[in-house]
Amino acid sequence: MNIYGLTKTDLEHVFEAIGEKKFKATQVYEWLYKKRVSSFDEMTNIKKDVIDYLKQNYNLNKLKILKKQEGIDVVKYLFELEDNNKIEAVLMKHDYGNSLCVSSQVGCNMGCSFCESGRLKKVRNLSADEIVLQILQVEEDLKLRITHVVMMGIGEPFDNYDNVIKFVKIINDPKGIELGSRHITISTCGIIPKIKEFMNLNLQVNLAISLHASNNELRSKLMNINKVYDINELISVIKEYINKTNRRVTFEYIMLDNVNDKESNALELSKLLKGINCYVNLIPYNETSHIEYKKSKKENIMKFYDILKKNNINVTIRKEFGSNVSAACGQLRSNYEEEK
Ligand code: SAH
Repeated sequence: MNIYGLTKTDLEHVFEAIGEKKFKATQVYEWLYKKRVSSFDEMTNIKKDVIDYLKQNYNLNKLKILKKQEGIDVVKYLFELEDNNKIEAVLMKHDYGNSLCVSSQVGCNMGCSFCESGRLKKVRNLSADEIVLQILQVEEDLKLRITHVVMMGIGEPFDNYDNVIKFVKIINDPKGIELGSRHITISTCGIIPKIKEFMNLNLQVNLAISLHASNNELRSKLMNINKVYDINELISVIKEYINKTNRRVTFEYIMLDNVNDKESNALELSKLLKGINCYVNLIPYNETSHIEYKKSKKENIMKFYDILKKNNINVTIRKEFGSNVSAACGQLRSNYEEEK
């Protein structure tokens, strides 16, 4: 088993089970995440028989970096997993820090019509260590610290709930990578039962909702999940979430030319979100050759923005990263498969 998949509590249980003091978990965590060793032998304050036990039961295997593409303020990675599946991670340099967009699954079953990732159906969930390693390896490769993590790569995080929560606990641990909860964002297409579960964990992690439409008819055309959990149910659970956690929610809204970017959509969206403690993040669509949607015209994005603003909705337009390196979700993997 890969050691990067253990929370500190898991590791404490491991040590307790073999009759060792549980503070050893802290020591091992510091070796792994503060000093970043690549072998158990380097953990010099851990005694030999414990090292042997760890060696017999765990490994420190890394992912393979298959391809790396650099653009302005963006570096995109294609990783190969032990079973040869491929996933992506994208590092984005912002003025506030370095943000890594990580994948949570191989493929995705959500079937959003605009999304490249979903062209490959879910093959499997990523384990917690496979998500943690995306961070460790990008940091090691670029010799920098990642300050923010967004779960907006390939996959639906709430369709891999347990491993994603484990991942959050691992990277949030003060003895480990120590990424603050408020610097971690989980983005979901809206799996309501999991949003409820997540709300009850009270983790202080940011939640982003891929909304992308202002009414049910439109949203169901764009996102299959809306046929299961519709927009009204979604908005009502988000209100509950905000009441319970006191946290602001982000709504992501991809701007698709002549699909969801009309003035009437902006008005409808303003009405839908009225009085909710939220941000709307307008995302210029990253075009891909396999899907016919086009990016909204700049003036239409501005008009949409202005209408939301006028209606007192907090709104931002996402900085465009990486269209020159195919950084739209799932593009690097799918292009790689085609080049072969
Ligand atoms: N499954 C999760 C997280 C992965 S997608 C979710 O749905 O939120 C992360 C975000 O990127 C989502 O808002 C998704 O709708 C958006 N996205 C997908 N394809 C895109 C594209 N080509 N251009 C811009 N954003 C895209």
